[in-house]
Amino acid sequence: MTMTETPMAEQQQQNELNGHKDLNHKSLLQSDALYQYVLETSVYPREHESLKELREMTQNHPRNIMATPPDEGQLIMMLVKLINAKNTMEIGVYTGYSLLSTALALPHDGKILAMDVNREYYELGLPIIQKAGVAHKIDFREGPALSLLDELLKDKNNMGKYDFVFVDADKNNYLNYHKRVIELVRIGGLIGYDNTLWFGSVAQPPHAPMMDFVKNSRGYVMELNKHLASDERIEICQIPVGDGITLCRRII
Ligand code: SAM
Ligand code: CA
Repeated sequence: MTMTETPMAEQQQQNELNGHKDLNHKSLLQSDALYQYVLETSVYPREHESLKELREMTQNHPRNIMATPPDEGQLIMMLVKLINAKNTMEIGVYTGYSLLSTALALPHDGKILAMDVNREYYELGLPIIQKAGVAHKIDFREGPALSLLDELLKDKNNMGKYDFVFVDADKNNYLNYHKRVIELVRIGGLIGYDNTLWFGSVAQPPHAPMMDFVKNSRGYVMELNKHLASDERIEICQIPVGDGITLCRRII
């Protein structure tokens, strides 16, 4: 079972296992109260009104566990601005919280090549993205990201073209994405792999009780984490925000 197929009851149960009864509490912090403090003190007061609208719309969607949490959206916006990103890519859009965060942080002529197998998810958030005045920055492609990346790799002009890539799709393909994305991001550019702590399961024994979708992808995430730590083409930083994001800066 993939995350996109996870029934609500299982999601709820998983969140309770993680100590988060509310589906929208997605954090690895020591308590819900501390996470709430972060949100209320530093995140919600600075959240763009369109991001708030998109987040609240997504809360009513049955797969809302997939959405990027707002504190992570804030981090993405900071990163995009810090590296002066202009050409970006996103693999795994869902309703578009990280996409809109990136789009808002980019300059007016910035671009995002956004990929998802499911256009319907993207179209749920699209009216809000349009209202925010940033839809012109987005080139959405529907389909499996691996084939789309292979197409990009056929054109030499795409090598090193991207300043920032956010990977947040099927975890079993992350290593395959890495093999391709590393060629497409520029030296000095950044790749963010999302969910690299995978509900905390990466530090649990293999036979610990966990939901099927967690168990099924745990090995892939652990393999990715090991691989990234030994890849000499990048510098890395594992950040325990959301479900864990590993930042990779290409150096060669
Ligand atoms: N970044 C999103 C956000 O901010 O809300 C969340 C993305 S969600 C965790 C994962 C997305 O990956 C889903 O929308 C799913 O349709 C998409 N996906 C799954 N497998 C894919 C694939 N092989 N290629 C492209 N997209 C895929
Ligand atoms: Ca994610």
